Amino acid sequence: MTTNPPIRIVIAGGGSAGWMCAAALSRFLGDGFTVTLVESDEIGIVGVGEATIPQIRLFNQALGIDEDAFVRATGATFKLGIEFVGWGALDERYMHAFGNVGRDSGLIPFHHTWLRGVRDGVARPLGDYALNNVAALANRMQRGAARTASVLPDMPYAFHFDASLYAAYLRRFAEARGVTRVEGRIVDVERDGESGDVAALTLDRDRRVEGDLFLDCTGFRALLIEGALGAGYEDWTRWLPCDRAMAVPSVRAMDFTPYTRATAHGAGWQWRIPLQHRTGNGIVYSSAHLNDDAARDHLLANLDGTPLDDPRPLRFVTGRRRELWKANVIAIGLASGFLEPLESTSIHMIQSAIERVLKLLPSRRIAQVQRDEYNRQAVFEYERIRDFILLHYVANRRDEPFWRERRETALPDTLRAKLDLWKAAAQITREHEELFTEVGWLQVLVGQGVMPDTWHPLADAMPAEQVAEFLDILPKLNAREVAQMPGHADFIARYCAAAEGVAA
Ligand SMILES: Cc1cc2nc3c(=O)[nH]c(=O)nc-3n(C[C@H](O)[C@H](O)[C@H](O)COP(=O)(O)OP(=O)(O)OC[C@H]3O[C@@H](n4cnc5c(N)ncnc54)[C@H](O)[C@@H]3O)c2cc1C
Repeated sequence: MTTNPPIRIVIAGGGSAGWMCAAALSRFLGDGFTVTLVESDEIGIVGVGEATIPQIRLFNQALGIDEDAFVRATGATFKLGIEFVGWGALDERYMHAFGNVGRDSGLIPFHHTWLRGVRDGVARPLGDYALNNVAALANRMQRGAARTASVLPDMPYAFHFDASLYAAYLRRFAEARGVTRVEGRIVDVERDGESGDVAALTLDRDRRVEGDLFLDCTGFRALLIEGALGAGYEDWTRWLPCDRAMAVPSVRAMDFTPYTRATAHGAGWQWRIPLQHRTGNGIVYSSAHLNDDAARDHLLANLDGTPLDDPRPLRFVTGRRRELWKANVIAIGLASGFLEPLESTSIHMIQSAIERVLKLLPSRRIAQVQRDEYNRQAVFEYERIRDFILLHYVANRRDEPFWRERRETALPDTLRAKLDLWKAAAQITREHEELFTEVGWLQVLVGQGVMPDTWHPLADAMPAEQVAEFLDILPKLNAREVAQMPGHADFIARYCAAAEGVAA
């Protein structure tokens, strides 16, 4: 009896993308595969990704990673949402909190009753109806079922973590499960003359790594998908013109808030991400509207602690590869494209790419329909996340030229349709596997000050006293629940204080 040789999967690059792929493949693929990862310490990783969304917990759970051990090892804190400061008008702020907002009444989603209540003058701010929002602003954290009222939901949460420590954590995980790591610089990509597939990576010191399927995780360099295969790039700068960032860590804030903060400035925005051992900060800006020196000054003037390093500049072009899977190469992570981290989606997109790879995993022969289906799903994901990020920009009421231009941008049809439906009928639809839910869109629409002209007629059918009572109860229940939660810092100290050597 002859047995087939194993299918050789080669991962080029060992940033978060490379090691997330390696960890997942080593966990889910059996004996029929080998996994090799090539990375170059000399080149290093972007390693900025520090804020995530709740789906990261599913990834860690699927790997069987103990949550508290992971939080300790990566200096993580908990994240209940993102606060947007100055995005609507200069002095406004709102939270896109994870999880539910309000409670549906009968057939109609909560926001219709809330909109009616706004008109009647009996509604509280939308955030008061979201348990995550109330807990985040009170700096509290808890896991599991609500303690004081069974009608309240669990609080979904994500993490702020040190991306370099996460990659190192996953490296240990993957190597313990049989992944071979090759240290070296890729100097050439060898293609099969007949099929055009990538046959091998040539490394410095005359080494060669052959494979059947290649995952391009080489970051912005995109050595395989673009360098060797010329997949092409769809540039979205006309919608999202920010093209530069500078990142700098600062001394740990005393107050490590359980939410990310994104503060708009004259030509982009600045992030603040609290970790246990430091605070991650960065400025994202359009180089056509702000020069690098001014961006550096703005960043450093708006830290809440002493900087621990010089700001590190990064350049990018927002958009995506035309083909994310071409020949026998699948681009994952920054090699596949870039969307600014306003909604902390990049690490999630790595995770969902891995899920797609595993679902559509080819045997030795790849069918074109497999590639087509992968690309269709990946493009859908990219475009819908782009629309959601774009919403924050176009619905602003600021005066600077950068912001005025954002309001005047011609929108993609998909976003135009969403906004029209909201304005005309207060409806929000979520298509297929769209990442952001109706309540995510709701919070950003209302937060940015985009209010609809009407609401569902059934909300008008409720007696006024019933609407007032309905809208009065939930904020009280949320406040009572939050009052008994431990503070975020106490919660971390109790369950998952950073390991020795991580905390400064
Ligand atoms: C400013 C900024 C802020 C961000 N913030 C967030 C955030 O808050 N949340 C989030 O989810 N994501 C965020 N991201 C995205 C996140 O950083 C990336 O998605 C994530 O780190 C994955 O990066 P990567 O592994 O694709 O690339 P990289 O980290 O760049 O890794 C590339 C790898 O390829 C290797 N490599 C490259 N060339 C060669 C070669 N010739 N030979 C051998 N090896 C090579 C490198 O050594 C490295 O190991 C942010 C990105 C930027 C730019």
